Amino acid sequence: MKIVTDENCTAYHHEGHPERPSRISATVEHLQQQLQLPLTWIPPGTVSEESILRAHSVDHWERLAVAEDFDVDTPFFPDIRAHARTSAAGALTAMRLALAGEKAFSMMRPPGHHATRTRAMGFCYLNNMAIAALEALAVGCKKVAIFDFDVHHGNGTEAILLNNPGTCFFSVHQHPCYPGTGTRNLGENCFNFPVPPQTPRAHYVEVLESAVEALVKCKPDLIGVSAGFDAFAGDPLAQGSLLQEDFAWLGDLFRKVKAPVFSILEGGYSQELPELILSYLKAWEG
Ligand SMILES: [Zn+2]
Repeated sequence: MKIVTDENCTAYHHEGHPERPSRISATVEHLQQQLQLPLTWIPPGTVSEESILRAHSVDHWERLAVAEDFDVDTPFFPDIRAHARTSAAGALTAMRLALAGEKAFSMMRPPGHHATRTRAMGFCYLNNMAIAALEALAVGCKKVAIFDFDVHHGNGTEAILLNNPGTCFFSVHQHPCYPGTGTRNLGENCFNFPVPPQTPRAHYVEVLESAVEALVKCKPDLIGVSAGFDAFAGDPLAQGSLLQEDFAWLGDLFRKVKAPVFSILEGGYSQELPELILSYLKAWEG
């Protein structure tokens, strides 16, 4: 298993913000201390402006360098554009590793799935997954499927990839919840599976299973997983009901699919995040 990460992604923080540096630093420490899953650590590398601008407007790219908060959840930080760019680079590196036959998890911050073509929101500045999916199409993939199991709807990924015939997007998320979208399928290629707050765990798992079945039916030649761990029952930001073993079950599902898979970290705000990620990765590796 390849872990794409960079210590520098912990170099910015906002007092009291749940999207905090220790999400990564504690997970890195946990992964380094365990011996069951052999890991190779890979730096994120770089991403060209050309690749970023497939998913985002020039105005948005320029706005990321302006010292002004985007919304209450999404503050400006000095160098946030560089941090977001490196996080997107990590997603690209994981995608390329998957195409080369490796299992790769990009564990970077900031996350990306709420960022739209023109707007930073919900702790997200650049849409790492959309940038990686569009890059995959540019290098010859015919059908890229995105599976987003973060408890929040991946509105940004959906908006950027909507009706792009080379992509299909599947999201299982809580509704009502931030950002309020994802109540129904959209266009030709975006399939949403909303679950109410405090949905019993067995039902949440059933919904995930049917979404994965739908994804397999679209016959992707590459699968990108927006892996958010905030549907965990102990997460402070939502009212999901998944347990640690359910993330292992998801990893196991992605191990069994035929197409190459890469995963990138989205949300996950509980103290248990390091254990949840390790369970997912171990099962995915098999
Ligand atoms: Zn989330």
